[in-house]
Amino acid sequence: MRLTFLGTGTSAGVPCIGCACEVCRSIDPRDTRTRTSAALRFTDTHGRERTILLDCGPDMRAQALANGLTRCDAVLFTHNHVDHTFGVDELRRFNAVMRQPIDIYAEAHTLTFLRRVYAHIFDRDKNFQDSFVATLTAHVIEPEAPINLFGLRITPLRFLHGKLPIAGFRLDAGSDLPASRILPLVYATDVNGVPPETWRHLTDLQTLVLGALRHRKHPTHYTLDEAVDVADRIAAEQTFFVHMSHELGHAVTQASLPENMHLAHDGLVLG
Ligand SMILES: [Zn+2]
Ligand SMILES: [Zn+2]
Ligand SMILES: [Zn+2]
Repeated sequence: MRLTFLGTGTSAGVPCIGCACEVCRSIDPRDTRTRTSAALRFTDTHGRERTILLDCGPDMRAQALANGLTRCDAVLFTHNHVDHTFGVDELRRFNAVMRQPIDIYAEAHTLTFLRRVYAHIFDRDKNFQDSFVATLTAHVIEPEAPINLFGLRITPLRFLHGKLPIAGFRLDAGSDLPASRILPLVYATDVNGVPPETWRHLTDLQTLVLGALRHRKHPTHYTLDEAVDVADRIAAEQTFFVHMSHELGHAVTQASLPENMHLAHDGLVLG
């Protein structure tokens, strides 16, 4: 079981267009951040290779090529924002390679957004002429209603992204999957609040992936200090921060973190 951080940057990416700050000019490869997304790769109970994507942002094509993604069995969406959804067109290549539809899982409001933006995919019969578009099978998820994918138990969890209620995911190995060093894992990006009902699902974690934007206060994202406090309270064996802006240089920021907390970077693989 491997979790690959495909992207670890905030919505504008790092470097940002038109910025000459120290981080945007950095030659440290860990300071180049594509939009936040991750891939979970594992062998299922029947011995088949599986890949589940966590979000599918505008850098998906480059991320797939950079990280050797050759299949996509399912996509879990946290929310509808562009930086987490505008790679959906790229999924068509996985359809072509695998010769099968791809299951996507999202809350109802996220699916409504996807159906509007990607009408050419979801209302394909209305296209002027048939063309090479993704073939997706949509599934509605709800907080605290677990789904089982290829032996993995996935529990959608409620988090807050400013006023927007969004999904995070708790991943546990089902009884048939071999034990993994990275599970149980919670993935929660674009978060600045944990509702009371979610806390009971944040126990006994091996891995926590949590959004941490920058140092200055933000209305819809945790600052680094806020994220460290929440991570401290959750007390996973190891925590990895994602969705960082250009205000957080990798080396300097990493040096300031507690021992069991890390800034993730593009291409980092856990497992
Ligand atoms: Zn985002
Ligand atoms: Zn900058
Ligand atoms: Zn967002």
